[in-house]
Amino acid sequence: MTDLYRFFPEELEQLIIDMGYPRYRADQILLPLYYKFPKNISDIKQLPKKLITELTESGYTIGSAKETHRVVSEDGDTTKLLLNLSNDHSVETVLMQYASSKIGGHPRSTICVSTQIGCAMGCVFCATGQMGFETNLKAEHIVSQVIHFEEILQQRGEHVTNLVFMGMGEPMANYDEMIRAVKILTHPKGFGMGQRHITISTIGIKSGIEKLAEENLQIGLAISLHAPNNTLRKKLVPTATLNSVDEIIESGYNYFKKTGRRVTFEYALMDGINDSSEIAHDLAKLLRGNGSHVNLIPINPTAGDFKRPSNNRVHEFERILFDAGVNCTIRIEKGTEISAACGQLRTDILG
Ligand code: SF4
Repeated sequence: MTDLYRFFPEELEQLIIDMGYPRYRADQILLPLYYKFPKNISDIKQLPKKLITELTESGYTIGSAKETHRVVSEDGDTTKLLLNLSNDHSVETVLMQYASSKIGGHPRSTICVSTQIGCAMGCVFCATGQMGFETNLKAEHIVSQVIHFEEILQQRGEHVTNLVFMGMGEPMANYDEMIRAVKILTHPKGFGMGQRHITISTIGIKSGIEKLAEENLQIGLAISLHAPNNTLRKKLVPTATLNSVDEIIESGYNYFKKTGRRVTFEYALMDGINDSSEIAHDLAKLLRGNGSHVNLIPINPTAGDFKRPSNNRVHEFERILFDAGVNCTIRIEKGTEISAACGQLRTDILG
């Protein structure tokens, strides 16, 4: 079976032409796929019955994800879905909404997309990492997460506005399928999302960052650093030791130079582990003057034993970076109480 959400629009056009139909029949499939969300090919009423039958009999299908569970945070801003995929695995995906600064404006609706089931990187503070690696997602499974939320939002007169590839898994470890999904989601005849509204988040896989820089895309890059030296970083991200802290920062800087897109360094703050003033000064020395931005993320409660630092400590860490001239923000976490925040996604403890 091949899901129609797997196709680049050009590939779908070629398929339709090869089947002996005019090119416009492909548009009659693409438009509903990304705006009406049919569940079966037979739901696309504009298509001739003969084409529907031929596509179905040739093993083409629609819809790789079925919602099996939904949890909404008390304030209604965060929704976590468990989606059952055509590969018989389940994946978590999260919608985070932020109020518009304009009166009567639509909220910013960001989807936190997963690229793998589980993750092989084993970051000690991350619930997904504690699950271990199960499987890579196909592009259609990644696209389906976005489509699923778009359908929910459309019913409320809203739309998906941003995508962050920060859900389950390391996007660079599933590069080909991840980038296929990005290109489908940004294609004007696909989902049509603006490239600048997408951020790929990586634990710092240099080869992946270099490849992404060559794609000629205007997407944002976030690198999870979590420590300013290799010894501490190895304790927190045990499997991501292929590249040193210096190499990772250099590849981020090269990405910035090549694409003009600012790179964000994610830094999960853990009480007594990586939150001292001395460490903040070390981090500031590494990052000042290279145009990057630091996102400080006071750690969420997860399967690990790590504690969130006090507010005073977090603000002191921020102040040191700021005084050294490093742009820095403290991330406002959403969905902590429904285990939908950063580092909390895992499919066996949904709730
Ligand atoms: S933080 Fe990211 S890279 Fe690390 S284990 Fe979790 S999902 Fe994988």
